[in-house]
Amino acid sequence: MIRDDRPLPEPTAESQPYWEGLRAHRLVLQRCAACKTPRHYPRPMCAACFSLEDEWFEASGNGTVHSWTVSHHAFHRGFKTDTPYVLLTVDLADGVRMVAPLVELVDDDASRLSLGLPVVLEYDDVTDEITLPRFRIDG
Ligand SMILES: [Zn+2]
Repeated sequence: MIRDDRPLPEPTAESQPYWEGLRAHRLVLQRCAACKTPRHYPRPMCAACFSLEDEWFEASGNGTVHSWTVSHHAFHRGFKTDTPYVLLTVDLADGVRMVAPLVELVDDDASRLSLGLPVVLEYDDVTDEITLPRFRIDG
């Protein structure tokens, strides 16, 4: 558990199931109840069929690297000791893209990254209420 003065997410009625899932160490994503198109982040309308009906499903958390950036500059003082850190954009096997940090940058981890590299989701319990997603290289 890490926490100092870092800002935390503030779950909304729309995103509450997602955050509750993370807290239970499950990735729960939203999808359209009409056409079943998954979407992430949670939002009220389906971009495929414009339905306002949604449902939630448990996703695997497995995916592949779509892109990444290595951040050497902390945009908030609470993250200063983490630099450099890697922020991944991952194509989840469940059909959506998700942005989350790589677990940690150790030695030459960034040089191990490549497009399509398999990653798995992990859960970072930062407070009793908030768990954040993060990825690690699979294998
Ligand atoms: Zn739809």
